[in-house]
Amino acid sequence: MQPHSESWSVVVHGGARTIPGAERAGCVEACLEAVSAAAAILSAGGSALDAVEAATRMLEDAPNLNAGLGSVRNAAGDIEMDAAIMDGETLALGGVGALRDVRHPVSVARALLAERPVLLVGDGAAKFAARIGAEPAPPIPLVTPAGAGGDTVGCVARDKRGHMAAAGSTGGIAGKMVGRIGDTPLPGCGLYADDELGAVAVSGDGESIARTLLATNALWSARDSTPTAAAQAAIERMERVGGEAGAILIDRLGRIGIAHNSRNFSVGVASSQLERPHAAARADDLKEWLE
Ligand code: ASP
Repeated sequence: MQPHSESWSVVVHGGARTIPGAERAGCVEACLEAVSAAAAILSAGGSALDAVEAATRMLEDAPNLNAGLGSVRNAAGDIEMDAAIMDGETLALGGVGALRDVRHPVSVARALLAERPVLLVGDGAAKFAARIGAEPAPPIPLVTPAGAGGDTVGCVARDKRGHMAAAGSTGGIAGKMVGRIGDTPLPGCGLYADDELGAVAVSGDGESIARTLLATNALWSARDSTPTAAAQAAIERMERVGGEAGAILIDRLGRIGIAHNSRNFSVGVASSQLERPHAAARADDLKEWLE
């Protein structure tokens, strides 16, 4: 596919893991709604950055996904969230870690794009969230019990101007150590976006993903292979240290790739080439739209 000025594409995910049968439809539905919202922004000429933030905010509001309202609890019974967003045009990056009491961590990360730091954690992240007037989490958190259907969420997009963006948001791993930050806000691990390479967002075992630079490997592989094969190769490389992961990727031409070694990976895709958005609980079910 050759890029042209009217083409755009977007992919969302609702986490790489085994999703119990009864919960699959809810995860797929959340992905379909989020990817449809992003598609509306992109088809109207909106930016990739706006699209990935909007989709991720919707997924953060889905109580059945482990991000925002649905975040799992850490070892102390508290919610600490990680999120990040990256602009492929400028390579601006904003990330927050172990952030508490905010409804939309991805929007706090977005506000950080205008600042020098690329990552704020804990109290510093909370102070920054307060400074920008971030919406607080609802007083009675709709916490999803550990082991519920969905997981970390993320989105990658390429807009009509050829600009790329990636975003991710998570409650992390249930029962995690207090202060633990996973791969989600770490550039080159949980996400990356560069107009010259593509955009990628990852879910799964954060420590394995970070130790093997999953996002970086996927984007480098995408330079000379299809995006699905590139995502697959990066996940295979991670298998050296064990663990499960899924990756969504749009290459610099706007081609869509998805791979996972987890049983499920709820995903949604939309592009100017597709008649309508599609979502499924496994990449295989969307393979006719992947390259
Ligand atoms: N990668 C996330 C983390 O380790 C969790 C997940 O994607 O399921 O925090």
